[in-house]
Amino acid sequence: MKLHRVCPRGAYVHIPFCRRRCFYCDFPVSVIGDRKSGENSGTIAEYVEVLIEEIEATPRSPHPLETVFFGGGTPSLLTAAQIDRLLTVLDRQFGIASDAEISAEMDPGTFDRAKLSGYARSGVNRVSLGVQAFEDDLLKLCGRSHDAEDIFTAVENIRHVGIPNFSLDLISGLPHQSLEQWRRALDRAIAISPNHLSCYDLVVEPVTPFGRFYKPGDRPLPDDDLTAQMYRLAAEMLSRAGYEHYEVSNYAKKGFQCRHNRLYWENQPYYGFGMGATSYVGDRRCSRPRTRKEYYEWVARYKASGGAIDEPPTSTEDRLLETLMLGFRLSDGVNLLEIRESFGAESVAAIVETLQVYDKNNWIEGLDRSGAIGERRSPPARVRLTDPEGFLFSNTILASLFESLTVESR
Ligand code: SF4
Repeated sequence: MKLHRVCPRGAYVHIPFCRRRCFYCDFPVSVIGDRKSGENSGTIAEYVEVLIEEIEATPRSPHPLETVFFGGGTPSLLTAAQIDRLLTVLDRQFGIASDAEISAEMDPGTFDRAKLSGYARSGVNRVSLGVQAFEDDLLKLCGRSHDAEDIFTAVENIRHVGIPNFSLDLISGLPHQSLEQWRRALDRAIAISPNHLSCYDLVVEPVTPFGRFYKPGDRPLPDDDLTAQMYRLAAEMLSRAGYEHYEVSNYAKKGFQCRHNRLYWENQPYYGFGMGATSYVGDRRCSRPRTRKEYYEWVARYKASGGAIDEPPTSTEDRLLETLMLGFRLSDGVNLLEIRESFGAESVAAIVETLQVYDKNNWIEGLDRSGAIGERRSPPARVRLTDPEGFLFSNTILASLFESLTVESR
């Protein structure tokens, strides 16, 4: 973890279009139906133009991009030519390093070999495939626009085109999902053998159809005990299959951690482009509007201002909290000597005191029980959450840290 780099090394580009809205999703997306895509949608074409205006209005930086991430939404609804244009503009504006990681989120059923080859020719070298589940009834229940067969076709196409790096996204804790079904999903994912896997526990957001149909903790949603068992099962099966559990929800084979997402977890600056995207540049976080109309108006003002962001800089207290909230998500944990250097010895003392409570449950690793960590240890003292128990209770631990550090500063 390097604290406080100045120049962004990564760019997130949000593509806010989906065929349908999944029943659990509250992301900023526009639903375009099953027949539209980049080839025949004026809405997508117009959005790409505005996105380009935003990128071109952004002040250049002296450091080339080391990561680009097309997220969504469903970036694979864009044509290869549209992705190529966006990458060309990013390259002209900031430069893209020759060994950059260029990822695109894709949904099964939205791309074929020709499109994928086009993406690869433009530089896309990592696919993050939104699988979520392997059983048609679960996919249907989630409102996904694809079926299980589409998943296997998508994987075959990725392999055929030779994109070197791909990841699968899965969701646990779905309504009616049993531990056995989750085990089978993990087995299938392991059999596909991607170099990266993300396993998310379902969060029921109140504004979604799931939020209206289901109440967290009530059937048919699995209860907390069952979701905890699912989490432990994933950690156990995937580590046995050779994946490193490098972040609360992410697993990778050696050398295949997502470089772009690490920028977020290490609290490094990054560009964010597009509707609903957040950027973190020059110590300022800026969230773009979540509807297309408001985003287009925002870009017009942004251009007129010469790319000025009028958000206030992140306060030191917020920077400390963010560094901890994000850093403890990683199996590398947090380096308390670096924290002391940037935020002072009192902050380290408050962190250590809070963590000691959880150390007793064996949820913390690396804590000096004398409480003197960060004061005299060399090499740097890393403190991390244990896998899986510390990770499983990360929300509880982080909420306590948040409380003690904000109380501390009052
Ligand atoms: S594909 Fe992803 S972004 Fe689109 S609606 Fe479904 S969950 Fe949301």
